[in-house]
Amino acid sequence: MKCWSCKKEIDEADAYCRYCGMGQGRFLPFSYTLFGIIICFACLGPFAIYFVAKTPIMGRKSKIILSIIMLAVFCYMAYGICHKLTAAFQEAQQLLGTGMPLVI
Ligand SMILES: [Zn+2]
Repeated sequence: MKCWSCKKEIDEADAYCRYCGMGQGRFLPFSYTLFGIIICFACLGPFAIYFVAKTPIMGRKSKIILSIIMLAVFCYMAYGICHKLTAAFQEAQQLLGTGMPLVI
């Protein structure tokens, strides 16, 4: 059997790779499991695509699809935040412009 991380030949019974120390099978590190990837995405945003690219639990096609979905969700959220910030800035500008005249 080959280690999914370093691709070196390891024993079938090994729970951890003897070369790189990465967990195999059910000892897979949390950040490479599907749930872990979702948590990473919530914390790291598009940087979680690194774990998608490396995880052994998905095929190439699933990885590409999941990466695209993650990028789309991130762009949608980033756009929403920018939109809200712009609206808040405009509102603040309006309040300052009409309510309190700046005296210098
Ligand atoms: Zn390894």
